[in-house]
Amino acid sequence: MSYDKNNIFAKILRGEIPCNKVYENEYVMSFYDHNPQKKIHVLVIPKGEYIDLDNFIDKASNIEIVEFNKGISQTIKILKISNQEGGYRILSNTGKYGGQEVPHLHYHIFGGERVGKMVV
Ligand code: AMP
Repeated sequence: MSYDKNNIFAKILRGEIPCNKVYENEYVMSFYDHNPQKKIHVLVIPKGEYIDLDNFIDKASNIEIVEFNKGISQTIKILKISNQEGGYRILSNTGKYGGQEVPHLHYHIFGGERVGKMVV
């Protein structure tokens, strides 16, 4: 499966579609999900063209992998939802069984209220 350069997150990264940004650096961007499932619902994406976590770990440089994780942590700090501040849940839907709609690696961060049952 090759990367689809016209997926919605690629368009956000190119600035063709607006987003409500939380954090951005050279390697990573986070922004509010436009259809929030919880009080706080933010997406974190790497800037490189990766479909999912496996593709990312196979192809990304070490700095991209480190910076992606730091970007998640930075986003949590900005949102003020750390463990001490109530906590959060992170998930990444992958492929057909995982329910992935957008074929660009993304982590969902949910918080601001009790997230609820882990899997429905
Ligand atoms: P997934 O099912 O894991 O691929 O999730 C894709 C997520 O992207 C969904 O929660 C959508 O609501 C969200 N989404 C799709 N388009 C946009 C957009 N233009 N801005 C913000 N979030 C989006």
